[in-house]
Amino acid sequence: MTDSIKYDTATKTALANDVGSTTFKCPKCGKATINRTRKSREIVVKYTCPECGFVGPN
Ligand SMILES: [Zn+2]
Repeated sequence: MTDSIKYDTATKTALANDVGSTTFKCPKCGKATINRTRKSREIVVKYTCPECGFVGPN
């Protein structure tokens, strides 16, 4: 019964209850899942793909 909590890829902030959060596949390798909180998107925090090392958004 443990809900898998998602964490922002860049800031490690939990995405729970964050209405503006988003989850998407890495635009480069398509393997890793990138999580973004609304705040990370607003202040354009860079994320690094754990699979291929892609840094975005660019
Ligand atoms: Zn990647």
